Amino acid sequence: MDNAGEALSSRRKRQRLIFMDNTDDDMIHTGTLLELDLLDCPICCHPLTSPIFQCVNGHLVCSSCHPKLRNKCPSCSLTIGNNRSRIAERLLEAVLVPCRNAKHGCPERYPHGKELADHEKICDLYVCYCPAKNCNHSAFQLDLYCHYTACHKASCSRYKTGQYADAWLNIEEKVLVLQECDNEELLVLQCFKGAHGLYVAVNLMTYSVPDVWELGYDLIYRWGNEEFTYETDEMTKIQRVSFEAPVVNYMVIPYYALDKRSVVKLEIRIRGLRKDVEEENDEDEDEDEEED
Ligand SMILES: [Zn+2]
Ligand SMILES: [Zn+2]
Ligand SMILES: [Zn+2]
Ligand SMILES: [Zn+2]
Repeated sequence: MDNAGEALSSRRKRQRLIFMDNTDDDMIHTGTLLELDLLDCPICCHPLTSPIFQCVNGHLVCSSCHPKLRNKCPSCSLTIGNNRSRIAERLLEAVLVPCRNAKHGCPERYPHGKELADHEKICDLYVCYCPAKNCNHSAFQLDLYCHYTACHKASCSRYKTGQYADAWLNIEEKVLVLQECDNEELLVLQCFKGAHGLYVAVNLMTYSVPDVWELGYDLIYRWGNEEFTYETDEMTKIQRVSFEAPVVNYMVIPYYALDKRSVVKLEIRIRGLRKDVEEENDEDEDEDEEED
């Protein structure tokens, strides 16, 4: 139904119709811009954030990369001082990007950046693939957990947000689906055989708690008197189960601690990080916006 390369984490050349509104006049002028990447910082590849700085050659850099550059442009090595790119800043403000699920009927549009990414994470019209083994069902995020509950409920491990639960992960099967007892949210506990041990990570499949900003998790593995723990405030959102080893956010259990077991018992706790708390913190950091 949808393209595998569309996972939220993937970066590729994005060509989405973007609307640029200019309401200064009585007439509303609207244009389109096709290369969304033009609004990404060439250094960190994240959406540009104001103030946007430029070197003497006009290369742009975002507000978070700028202080790390020590006045030297990474593209041309010339000076990058405190010269702002007003045109890029205006462009950023004027652009509204439709949700990536517009083709499925989502009407939402946001400025390019975090707000858009946050919406896309919880957008009901995001297409996901059922994480159950040998099931090829794809559905909107909104419908996938209902499908899972109806068809595969017996094969998953249940948890309650905020509480520790035992999860029995079969190393050969590599995947254990976790489902929240109340809101039926789906997570996938996965393991990969790495060079230094077994890599274990929890990925987010469907998101059903709109008042929660991010999900984090804690993992504990016990072996004799040894305890291996892992804590993170970030969970990767996936569109389908992949068997590629994670690059970030994973726990490593050294092979000696597995005792050649084929099933390992992990204690897992999912934490919901509240949206309002995050926003309060953000406000403290916000600088006053500078007017032209
Ligand atoms: Zn940057
Ligand atoms: Zn430059
Ligand atoms: Zn949407
Ligand atoms: Zn299924």
